[in-house]
Amino acid sequence: MTESMPYAEAVTEFEPVIGLEVHVELGTESKMFCSCPTTFGAEPNTQVCPVCLGLPGSMPVMNGAAIESIIRMGLALNCSVVEWCRMARKNYFYPDMPKDYQVSQYDEPICVDGYLDVTVTTDDGPRVFRVEIERVHMEEDTGKLTHAGGATGRIHGADYSLVDYNRAGIPLVEIVTKPVTGTGALAPEVARAYVTELRDIMRGLGVSDVKMEEGSLRCDANVSLNRPGADWGTRSETKNVNSLRSVERAVRSEIERQAGVLAAGGRVTQETRHFHEDTGQTTPGRSKEQAEDYRYFPEPDLVPIAPDPAWVEELRASLPEQPSIHRARLAEQWGIGDFEMATLVNAGVLGLVEETVAAGVSPDAARKWWAGELTRVANEREVEPGELGVSPTDIGRIEELIASGSLNDKLARQVFEGIMAGEGSADEVVAARGLAVVSDDGALLAAIDEALAAQPDIAEKIKAGKVQAAGAIVGAVMKATRGQADAGKVRELLLERLGVAE
Ligand SMILES: [Zn+2]
Repeated sequence: MTESMPYAEAVTEFEPVIGLEVHVELGTESKMFCSCPTTFGAEPNTQVCPVCLGLPGSMPVMNGAAIESIIRMGLALNCSVVEWCRMARKNYFYPDMPKDYQVSQYDEPICVDGYLDVTVTTDDGPRVFRVEIERVHMEEDTGKLTHAGGATGRIHGADYSLVDYNRAGIPLVEIVTKPVTGTGALAPEVARAYVTELRDIMRGLGVSDVKMEEGSLRCDANVSLNRPGADWGTRSETKNVNSLRSVERAVRSEIERQAGVLAAGGRVTQETRHFHEDTGQTTPGRSKEQAEDYRYFPEPDLVPIAPDPAWVEELRASLPEQPSIHRARLAEQWGIGDFEMATLVNAGVLGLVEETVAAGVSPDAARKWWAGELTRVANEREVEPGELGVSPTDIGRIEELIASGSLNDKLARQVFEGIMAGEGSADEVVAARGLAVVSDDGALLAAIDEALAAQPDIAEKIKAGKVQAAGAIVGAVMKATRGQADAGKVRELLLERLGVAE
């Protein structure tokens, strides 16, 4: 295997071109072509019928709510909605697809030519990139295979495979970008920002719960590299990247890998690849089929779709506030600038900050915890901040305890640690771990006397007017109280004790 090229070098020698295909599972109550329910996590093969199992003689009927959702999605992504289009059959065999074809759209997508502006933070401030959208089309989801008996859950090494058709026929929308060029070294950040923005728009529209961890939003990332000025290179397609963080990592590792291949005089293979969360690397899947391999043809069992232009205009008029406008409004309410806002968006915590503010926490405190300590821990653990197990209510309670003087920031971090470790609510962690600011002057003075006695030379220095030496004693007291004292208060008491003015 060829060595990867370090990232900084790779983006100096080559220009990346990326393309993103995002699948959004719609949150409609019933499936695309039948009335089966779509509840996530139901007992396998309990939400199926002759239509979604592809039994002979069954006839599909289009779900009107799904069409309405996709048109709203297209409009929110600045697309044109076509006057007339058809569904198509995409023919291939896969055991999770009972009909042996997928009803999709091919040369007649329902929404075309849109764009989405995304912002990434750089050392020189926020930069906006326009990601052009080629098409937004409808299709049905497949079932789900579980490979059992092996160590990895993959088909290799498995003893047998199980198939659950509950997901087969759930409406799926595919959003495909045009090739995105000119991002240079920022390609991974642009990819992540795009998927984040897309997710927020879909959430705002209420068309899907867009949970990447449950697969209701899935991203495939195409990457190719070319020498500056040369034609575009051959692309690889990394499939089903299932977190925002992984989108960024997958693009980055593909750039490093392809640069290594090209620099060694090799050729990039057109293929699908799989991203591995644990190693941060991609490995080859199957070689990529061409469109003609699927023998697409218009779906004969469904009537064409011809949305009434007046209805489309009604849907356009009823779209919710765009996330960019929503963010501008929040920034004004919270008194923060573009840079701070972009930081929250890129850390994936804007929604969490918003919920925390709604739970009664001040915007400054909500931002401080989510963009600071909690983002740091999330990065360290390689998870999303929302998966840490800390709720807006927890932050509200911790802030109350800080305001009342029972906790300081240092102790609060320990409370978060306990909550994330599953030790219960903020109050339960405080009680179980015995966390509380020592505010009793008597106890603090005793600790101060002890520290002074242990370091008489420093005590003399302070008495002689070298107030900066007080830090050593304050530090010793903080250590003795396991951080449970207010350092400012200790300093005040110490100087008072020695009769020294600040
Ligand atoms: Zn069904």
